[in-house]
Amino acid sequence: MDSSDSLEVMEAYMRLVAPQDLNGIQKNSLSSKSSVRISQNEEVGRYLTATRDIAAGEILLCETPLVIAPQAGAGPTCLHCLKYLHEPYGSCKQCSAPLCLETCVNKYHTQAECQALERLGEKDWSLKLIAIVNAALTPLRAWVAIEENKSLSPLIMTLQSNAKERKKLPIGAFIKAVIIPLLRDRLGQASIEDEFIHRCCGVFDTSAFKIETVEGEQGRALLPLAAMMMHDCAPNSDHWFSEGKFIVRAALPIKYGEAITISYTVCLIGTQSRIKHLSITKLFTCTCNRCKDPTELGTHISSLRCRTCKSGLVVPPEINNEDWQCNECQVKLPQEMTAIIARAGGFKPGVTDRGELAKRLHDVERMVGLQHYGSLQMLMAIWKNLSSSDIEGLSGDELRDAVAVTEQLMEVVGQLLPGLTIYRGELILGNLKMRSELQRRKLEVTGSELLSTRPVPPHHEVVKERLELCRAIFQHHPLMPTVLELETQLQQAT
Ligand SMILES: [Zn+2]
Ligand SMILES: [Zn+2]
Ligand SMILES: [Zn+2]
Ligand SMILES: [Zn+2]
Repeated sequence: MDSSDSLEVMEAYMRLVAPQDLNGIQKNSLSSKSSVRISQNEEVGRYLTATRDIAAGEILLCETPLVIAPQAGAGPTCLHCLKYLHEPYGSCKQCSAPLCLETCVNKYHTQAECQALERLGEKDWSLKLIAIVNAALTPLRAWVAIEENKSLSPLIMTLQSNAKERKKLPIGAFIKAVIIPLLRDRLGQASIEDEFIHRCCGVFDTSAFKIETVEGEQGRALLPLAAMMMHDCAPNSDHWFSEGKFIVRAALPIKYGEAITISYTVCLIGTQSRIKHLSITKLFTCTCNRCKDPTELGTHISSLRCRTCKSGLVVPPEINNEDWQCNECQVKLPQEMTAIIARAGGFKPGVTDRGELAKRLHDVERMVGLQHYGSLQMLMAIWKNLSSSDIEGLSGDELRDAVAVTEQLMEVVGQLLPGLTIYRGELILGNLKMRSELQRRKLEVTGSELLSTRPVPPHHEVVKERLELCRAIFQHHPLMPTVLELETQLQQAT
């Protein structure tokens, strides 16, 4: 298929799905005409651009997945609704695949899929079998969808798969040795061609979106329109999945003709790690503004605390392999040295004890500085630990720690993912929850022992403004009821 044919396929799809899907969401948030179109150029292929000036908060896409499946290699996941399952869970009466104990709402486990899985003849699915079947479900579900609607075939085939390069990689060998025999021999899908399986797995790994919802669904979704958005480590739009729809919204104002961008990577890692992650998972080298800027938009999350002058930051060079240099005393550090220091100060996962987490944070901070992503990841681990605990069980000091930690994270995330971004919103919402609990107990929000250098503004200076920001960020989002509840609690407390 040449590129003009594939553009036609995508445009036809856009006309087909966009209007009916877009009408599903509150009409007043949308103009009748689509705000995005498909553009194409030699260098990057197809991508989405703005058809007019777009305001922050406007919904750009609301797309139903063409195919949706559990994460490849994931543990027990309900094949109907994609909720991650904990013991005890149910199983399909016919094929014994993992399902919710109670009947669930979505119905992704089709009869055709059930019949194929029944051929396994397994009554008790081991974790190993579950992981492999979850990997094979992507090509199987795509195949079943195409069997039902042949017009989907050119659409799926037009998506980027990197199949040729992948065949030379371990993933290609795994598909050949495990996935193809499973589909062909054990699930009886003799008519699926090898090429289709390689391509389909490639399309999913390259172009599918990771889905994680507030309700606990986890999986991957094939969204042909959304997949055309270009990557940027500091993107102008954000997205979420809710009630079977993938919603893309402008996080910042977007000018007419500008590319609509999203991020395919995580926010709190340094440029070198992000570039490596993107080149392994998406097979491209990012050259966005954040990646080109040694200070990473002024956050210095890759820079290291200077051990010579103790006040400056040793900043990466603009050109790779050159020495790093302190922005105050100008001392130089060779690249290899900075890599050793960054590794020593790196995030160590697996700790759950709060005292131990605090000690690790201070070790990392001493080594690389609080601005470094090693420290930020430790802060995030502390925040996850505190926020996953029962809020009423937290002491006043722990609530103050939680406020200080989120203040620090919010500042950095606000610079890296500015505007109406969910990641930023979740931190603000968490900060307000902790503040609300302090208020309920009539406790002051003074600084915390954990982050003694972090100034923490009093409630009256920030709460109103942050609530308004949360209202904007979570408009149409499943967390909106939480925002409104919090608003009431904070009003009652004053
Ligand atoms: Zn379910
Ligand atoms: Zn079944
Ligand atoms: Zn980048
Ligand atoms: Zn220095």
